[in-house]
Amino acid sequence: MKNITVIEPQFVSVFQCIGSECRDHCCKGWDITLDKPTVNRYLKSSRIEIKTLAAENIVTTRRSYENWGKMKLNTAGNCAFLDEARLCKVHSELGASALSPTCATYPRGAKIFKYEKQKSLALSCPEAARQLLSSPDAMLFEQTNYLQPEANKAQELDQEKKLLNLMCLNIVKYSGEHIDEAFYALASFLLYTGKVNDADDRVAKLEDYFAQTISSLTQGGIRQQLDQVKPDYNLQWSLLLRMQTYFGGITKLRGLPMLDHYINKLIYIQTEGAKNNDINQSMVRLENAWQSKMMPWFAERPWVMNNYIQYRIYDSFFPGDDSLTPLMKLYLLTADWFLLKSLIAASVEMVGQVDEDDIINIIYSYHSVTKHTAKSALAFVAEINKTKVNDDLSLIYLLK
Ligand code: SF4
Repeated sequence: MKNITVIEPQFVSVFQCIGSECRDHCCKGWDITLDKPTVNRYLKSSRIEIKTLAAENIVTTRRSYENWGKMKLNTAGNCAFLDEARLCKVHSELGASALSPTCATYPRGAKIFKYEKQKSLALSCPEAARQLLSSPDAMLFEQTNYLQPEANKAQELDQEKKLLNLMCLNIVKYSGEHIDEAFYALASFLLYTGKVNDADDRVAKLEDYFAQTISSLTQGGIRQQLDQVKPDYNLQWSLLLRMQTYFGGITKLRGLPMLDHYINKLIYIQTEGAKNNDINQSMVRLENAWQSKMMPWFAERPWVMNNYIQYRIYDSFFPGDDSLTPLMKLYLLTADWFLLKSLIAASVEMVGQVDEDDIINIIYSYHSVTKHTAKSALAFVAEINKTKVNDDLSLIYLLK
């Protein structure tokens, strides 16, 4: 028998779908793909209503075993199996075991290694986002073990990558509500990891530098270094325009109306600056709103954005595989952070206050639009990567 370790943050273990209470149900606005057994099960169901709805609303695509059909959405954009009370008819008539793999698992997911499973949730689910952002303990990790006859058919976990991931998580954790300091410290730490190639004492050196980084964070050294950095308003402005261009090209998608509600506030502030031919004015206005209105709010709830960035580090197993350099990945993460920060700042500037629901709305809708599929995530990354100047370290100009 093989011993399998399961890791999950607390918000993953306590998650429960709230069904009809959900503020933006996942059974609307998205393509819902069905695998071959599910298509056949619905089309041949002994329940006449299920069978009729299936015959009328499943488009059989036969693209692959997993993608054998997809649901037509009705004029309201809802899955045809969703009833008036916003409950799933398949679930209520046939039980949870009859759901397609897509419907049965969302928003749950996991990274599988040979002897380890790292469970997570997609933040495009508003309830998952709420659970993550509302509890100080949401990112506390729980570990369990179980035995199974064979190891998972997956790569073995690279122990150094796991160590780096844990160090990055802790750097974020020690930064509290000061996420700008977390990114600066991560950049410094990753630069160092790229320079230490001496195999013999690499881990010892990494541990030393990690301890120094934490000390610098807690003693104010990182803050002092960050205070020397001058903001690059042109870079920030271009990134915001890129985001607007990208979102402007999407016509219909779950989460988009909610995201648009917040993007419009940002566009208003940018338009004011553009009218006066002064882009700096808009960027300074956003930064002032962030510092004067949001930072005091976050100081009372330091876990909110800290949990979010910890989640991103954990969920992507950052810095993870070698598909991109660690600094490039950090640049992309910082760009995401900057865009979310700008949306929050624009909202508080226009409305005068922000509450937890606004933060949840911004984060779940942003994830829904930019990260729901691998294709949408890649397209968004390609868009924001166009604004990078010189090298990946330009990320620090997004922190002020
Ligand atoms: S988005 Fe999340 S909470 Fe809402 S219905 Fe889907 S799984 Fe349930």
